[in-house]
Amino acid sequence: MPAKIVAGNWKMNGLHGSLNELIAISIAAKNLNCTTVICPPATLVWAAAQTQDIISVGGQDCHDKAIGAYTGEISAGMLADSGAKYVIVGHSERRSEYGETNSLVKRKATIAQASDLTPIICVGETLDERKAGRAIEIVLRDLTASVPGVSDFIVAYEPIWAIGTGLIPSIHDITEIHDALRNLLTDRFNLAGEKISLLYGGSVKSSNATEIFACINVNGALVGGASLTARDFIPIMHSLSNS
Ligand code: PEP
Repeated sequence: MPAKIVAGNWKMNGLHGSLNELIAISIAAKNLNCTTVICPPATLVWAAAQTQDIISVGGQDCHDKAIGAYTGEISAGMLADSGAKYVIVGHSERRSEYGETNSLVKRKATIAQASDLTPIICVGETLDERKAGRAIEIVLRDLTASVPGVSDFIVAYEPIWAIGTGLIPSIHDITEIHDALRNLLTDRFNLAGEKISLLYGGSVKSSNATEIFACINVNGALVGGASLTARDFIPIMHSLSNS
């Protein structure tokens, strides 16, 4: 069975005071039947990893090179050195605002693995693509071109139109995409493909988490807004643990 994982993406939110939320989340995570990951801004990765050892810490992005003259960038090795165990790559905000392509995402995922980080590879369709009936085609195309050669990664299906909007696809549509992702991964990686965790992301909240986690190939969630406070995030963690 794939591991059950709930990952919080804090994006460009969080100062040192926010570590109180992380500590509350880690206390709640202690006896749960799932892995909890928080991806704070890079400025908090080290401190977050130092505060506790129950949940894991992740980066939100990394460069595709190990070292060099890339002002302002952070390498996968630096994240690992700061205590991160995971890194998000190919988030739709990176793809749309910074022009990240599938081949760049693949290189980032590959260097993350080489740096002992587990990449969380994001894919998802736009609303126009969904309306045109192309969601499965787009998601499978992007995942095929974004995954590294080794199966040690996590996939997050995040429909772009569901991120931060309060909208989510129907349970039927989530199931359909996740089943297609699972088929692609087992075709490509055989038995190892059955063990890759598939996360759903996009407006996950305590009110919809239980029905989303009931989908057979949904193994967890990537959560943005509702991961910023322990009050909102802990009920989602409980839903996954009980699923
Ligand atoms: C995200 O940005 O990855 C995300 C899922 O955000 P939200 O939960 O706020 O929709």
